[in-house]
Amino acid sequence: MELIKYFLKLPFITKLLQDKQQNKLSSGYLFHSLDASSNAFAVTALAMTLLCKKSGCFSCENCIKILKNSHPDVLYYPKEKAFSVFDAKDIIEQAYKKPMIANFKIIIINEIDNSSIEAQNKLLKIIEEPPKNVFFLITTSNLDKVLQTIKSRLLKIKVPCFSLDEIKEIFDSFRNNENYSLAITYGQGYVGKTLEILKNENYLAIYEFCKEIVIHLKQSSQIINFLNEKIDKDKFIIILTILSSFYRDLLMLLCNQDYLVVDKDLIKDFAEIKKEFSINSVIKIINLINQINEKRFSNVSLNLLFETMLVKILEVKFRCK
Ligand SMILES: [Zn+2]
Repeated sequence: MELIKYFLKLPFITKLLQDKQQNKLSSGYLFHSLDASSNAFAVTALAMTLLCKKSGCFSCENCIKILKNSHPDVLYYPKEKAFSVFDAKDIIEQAYKKPMIANFKIIIINEIDNSSIEAQNKLLKIIEEPPKNVFFLITTSNLDKVLQTIKSRLLKIKVPCFSLDEIKEIFDSFRNNENYSLAITYGQGYVGKTLEILKNENYLAIYEFCKEIVIHLKQSSQIINFLNEKIDKDKFIIILTILSSFYRDLLMLLCNQDYLVVDKDLIKDFAEIKKEFSINSVIKIINLINQINEKRFSNVSLNLLFETMLVKILEVKFRCK
């Protein structure tokens, strides 16, 4: 796995390797960032560093087995889609068995936030009193959904995003992908988000659709033109993410901080409409979009929510003029 090599260089990996050499490793870590894939790569890279005699050589038995997901002492959970009580029971059983080829066992639980409270509670006991030579590497892209009792037993480590130059190097082979520049800009330095954009055939169309909203939505009679778009949950999340970033860039332009604009193409696109917005209105619109995003729109009609959002954006825009 090519991507792993970039994660092996992350500073926290070097730090934890030192801790291991000084026998100072904690028995459990909670790795977090907004990007589930980055978290997963980070823990796999760490497992390689801890088990390989050369801290990740890609060619020894430990490295090869980890990369193939077949190392008998590196156990991955959840076994199904979300971490379950069944997984927790299995972990308790496995944790007390001796390691097969290494001196210790690594138990990786990806995206623990995707589980029920019951499953997390079941796991709690073994995390509180882990058997000797068992290390828990747990990840989450939503810290708020991890039980406080679990969080307090683990050492939290933030998985950093990569710099613009690093991300360009990592995804150099995708240069001919039509979403390449958008993926580099909107992937926010995270490999998972960047890959998602590169693989999404509709991303460019959604991006243009959002641009239409910001630039051309000027009165409520036009809202109907935007409602023909079929919107599912994934698409709505992308729309909210892009819109939020657009309005943030617009705010930077209004504050004459052009160098802080993330999507430089927008400087030209937004030049004309800049004067239609006040700084106050853009701040309120960004807050509005964030609020909608945080609610995760459970049990509501997405089309209705989308329509309401457009109405409110217009309202704010005119009220704060
Ligand atoms: Zn190795």
